[in-house]
Amino acid sequence: MGFVLLRYWCRLICLIGLLFCHEATYSQGLIQRIETVLATDQWLQPGDRLQVRVQAQPGCQATFLGGKPLVELDPRLAKSQRGVYQGTYIVQPGDTLHDRAITVTVMAPDSTLATATTSNKIRFLNPNEPQLAVTKGSLAYLNYGLGEDRLGGAKLGYLDSLVVLHLTGRVGNLYRVQLAATQTAWVPQEVIRLLPPGGFVPTSLTGSWSVYGDSLYDYVQVPLDARLPYRSQLLTEPTRLVVDVFGATSNTNWITQRDGLQALGDVHYEQLEPDVFRLVLNLKHEQAWGYRIDYKGNTLVIRVKRPPAKLQLRGLTVAVDAGHGGTNVGATGSTGAREKDITLAIAQRLRQDLISRGARVLMTRETETTVDNGDRVLLLRRLNPDLLVSIHVNSTGSPSVQGTSTYYRYLAFRPLSVALYEAMRRTGLKGFGNVGSFNFGLNGPTEYPNALVETAFISNAEDEKRLIDPQFQQQIAEQLTKGVEEFLRRTRQKGVGGWLSKKAAEQ
Ligand SMILES: [Zn+2]
Repeated sequence: MGFVLLRYWCRLICLIGLLFCHEATYSQGLIQRIETVLATDQWLQPGDRLQVRVQAQPGCQATFLGGKPLVELDPRLAKSQRGVYQGTYIVQPGDTLHDRAITVTVMAPDSTLATATTSNKIRFLNPNEPQLAVTKGSLAYLNYGLGEDRLGGAKLGYLDSLVVLHLTGRVGNLYRVQLAATQTAWVPQEVIRLLPPGGFVPTSLTGSWSVYGDSLYDYVQVPLDARLPYRSQLLTEPTRLVVDVFGATSNTNWITQRDGLQALGDVHYEQLEPDVFRLVLNLKHEQAWGYRIDYKGNTLVIRVKRPPAKLQLRGLTVAVDAGHGGTNVGATGSTGAREKDITLAIAQRLRQDLISRGARVLMTRETETTVDNGDRVLLLRRLNPDLLVSIHVNSTGSPSVQGTSTYYRYLAFRPLSVALYEAMRRTGLKGFGNVGSFNFGLNGPTEYPNALVETAFISNAEDEKRLIDPQFQQQIAEQLTKGVEEFLRRTRQKGVGGWLSKKAAEQ
């Protein structure tokens, strides 16, 4: 309570002016501010660093955790501020702290004492009682680190539900996941359920694989003892799907490759680290068409999508996503034009154009409605399109920036975004570029090739004028259709190319 008052005072004083700040605060107390770095609730395990920063009267002695010293920084290291103290403590085995605030004691040269506590709470984890959790929901995912921006943290990948995770730390609403001895990731609170104490950190030997195809897909099945976390990458040159399973050690003594495989070429594995098992699935077609990873019981099932039999628009199922809608207006132009209206208008024209070429079209929205991006991804998962084009309108603070751009997340899906980009450039729009590793929800699905088209900048007067012109919208729609056709044509040319042709070249 006293600390709250102190902060209030400090804000008031800082309004009066920095010169008076030190003097006035001195009369109120020694400590102006205390925080942990990062300044949020944390779980730390032995070996982790607890970092504390205090703003107090210069020239004092400051301690935390019952006597551990904080060092007063040279003002050159503290944005010219005096009286900034910092301390680091490495959590030791056996340390206990259960969701407690951190208290700092400051002693002035005249021996006056003051204490203050952080508003956030810290827990020291006991590694002898591993904290486990399971993933929940249909869109659980892991992040690489603690980053955040309008697209969210950079995603390492999606996980099925009920995957068991070993949590070894927490920063705010993100939990650190120990994937393997040397690998960690972060998982948001909302996609996990904490398990009660007493569980074992999951590990598994891998069983022998079954590799087979049915009338629609090729599959790889790997029996495990538990639903372990995994990550995957769809790579090119040669085209292959690489899946790492964490906590798994090989006892795969054979890999049965049955008849009927169409997309899978050679498959094998390597034990990358004692607790990282890597599946390498070579794909027959140079253009990969996507995949999905699920658990059936505790068996890991990798389902590989085959390229459409006829690589032509006729008979192809194309998903068209009109960005935003309803309460989600998107960007707005200087004339008042709204992104949600423009994307819908272009999407409807694109649908018409695709249908006229014999394609089946699935729309994520057909009207002026609010549809959450997560719901769009789940809808598309159910509808299972052959490919997806998501339509948006770009915007930036600099009105001179203009042009069209396309976006992909996974390297293997880049060719679709390149073909769409080239098509969009033919409308006469300037080129803003082709952007990869794009952490956008509708670029997230691995199940089918997908691309985001940021048609043009609504924040640029010239681009906006074109975006709201029905004739130009029609031109965009027609070019996007041509872009999809060009992608199909190029894929046809590559044919059963990547892995097989490289095998042939080697012989
Ligand atoms: Zn948008």
